[in-house]
Amino acid sequence: MPIKMKITNTKIQETVKEIIGEDSLRIIDYLKDKKNVSDFKIAEKVDRDIHEVRNILYRLFNYNLVSYYRKKDRQKGWYISYWTFNKKKIKELLHKTNKEKLDKYSIRLKEEEANFGNFYLCPNACVRVGFERAVDLEYRCPECGNILNHQDNTKTIDFLRTKIKELQMNGKAVKGRA
Ligand SMILES: [Zn+2]
Repeated sequence: MPIKMKITNTKIQETVKEIIGEDSLRIIDYLKDKKNVSDFKIAEKVDRDIHEVRNILYRLFNYNLVSYYRKKDRQKGWYISYWTFNKKKIKELLHKTNKEKLDKYSIRLKEEEANFGNFYLCPNACVRVGFERAVDLEYRCPECGNILNHQDNTKTIDFLRTKIKELQMNGKAVKGRA
């Protein structure tokens, strides 16, 4: 039986950091157990400029990670927005990112496997091509003219396989909690 994996806070943080940006972490951390918190209060609590905070909140909103409503403050005459963290949406985001990565790595793995032991690389790293293309180019880099070196891609394949396994495990963990 595989070890049952959970969506840890670390996992959530990693994903949010990657997609929304590191500056959003403190806001999420503050908002996560609260409802309808005003933008001014958030700014005060995370000790950041209100404009920065709004910018981050709208970024989170673009990924459905927060929802908000606006209300006019009668005394002050301006609008205040009230924010709530959508905890459920984080799972969707994790799932989506995971799937995108999995697709990307799977395509790469197929390419690498199809050209197993048959890659040719420019010493200046201008190009990396398969065998047929290397023959077409007469083993010369089309960019800089250097002779292309044969490259063993076993390590790349191993790396991709490990990565894919990891992502598949993550995918199961996310699904299990949906
Ligand atoms: Zn080159």
